[in-house]
Amino acid sequence: MTAQVIDGKAFAAEVRGKVAEHVKRLKDKHDLVPGLAVVLVGEDPASQVYVRSKGKQTTEVGMKSVEHKLDVDTSEADLLALIDKLNKDESIHGILVQLPLPKHLDEDLVINSIDPAKDVDGFHISNVGLLGTGQKSMVPCTPLGCLMMLREHHGSLSGMDAVVIGRSNIVGKPMAQLLLGDSCTVTIAHSRTKDLADVVRRADIVVAAVGRPEMVPGDWIKEGATVIDVGINRIEKDDGKTKLVGDVDYASCEERAGAITPVPGGVGPMTIACLLANTLTAACRANGIEEPE
Ligand code: NDP
Repeated sequence: MTAQVIDGKAFAAEVRGKVAEHVKRLKDKHDLVPGLAVVLVGEDPASQVYVRSKGKQTTEVGMKSVEHKLDVDTSEADLLALIDKLNKDESIHGILVQLPLPKHLDEDLVINSIDPAKDVDGFHISNVGLLGTGQKSMVPCTPLGCLMMLREHHGSLSGMDAVVIGRSNIVGKPMAQLLLGDSCTVTIAHSRTKDLADVVRRADIVVAAVGRPEMVPGDWIKEGATVIDVGINRIEKDDGKTKLVGDVDYASCEERAGAITPVPGGVGPMTIACLLANTLTAACRANGIEEPE
């Protein structure tokens, strides 16, 4: 059996298309342009690529994009002052502080200083609490993108066994909450999990968010299971060039899975599409306008 490839790139383009239509309607009917501010501290090369890509796609769907690039030694007080300014700026509906931050900055403090209504990454403690209690919140973009692909592929997820490998605050934990919200039976695995292979073999849905290149081999995958690969790892090939791979061994997993997301072209593009969707949602909520589904 060869798995159906879940084309995150194509699905993300569809999502962006819908966002662009809504943005146009907001402009025409309400003279409202959603605005996203991205704050980058330092010069981490991967973060710079993400921020550029986010800015470009924000503009492409017709939204306002603002980038704040700060020196690596920016003080916490200066960063908090900028966030305060953006919180009060009515033309900005979404604020994203690119992680990771340089070590001298307290990530929790910084994230929790963002107005929860503008927290389009969904990392503010209020949004985490709302998500955990099943209330309307801002949902973290990467897990939201994964959930959308799973719903698109399966329709209902109710009653399915899901295993999330990884328990980070930005991917693993919110992913588990979302799957629970869709009535999956959820297991969260991590570096201390015993018999990980056996745990994964039970799963109808496997979400791998570990950060270890090609860690999950095909013989861990139940025949016909759906595999969502969140990992983005750059590895060196035999010829000295580098390439991106996920957290699952694609070649062997593809032979057993029913469906699988590729890397690149799976979860990555959906993450940015969901960021745009969250910014649109935030703009609608801030202005008392019915939000898109
Ligand atoms: P973290 O490093 O924060 O978390 C990794 C998790 O994996 C931890 O919970 C850790 O367990 C667990 N883990 C580590 N080693 C093992 C192991 N041998 N067996 C089982 N579990 C293990 O990573 P993130 O959640 O931030 O990111 C995960 C991956 O997803 C990365 O490759 C990252 O680049 C990618 N990513 C992709 C995004 C996208 O848009 N596609 C967005 C965000 C992340 P423990 O807690 O016990 O240490």
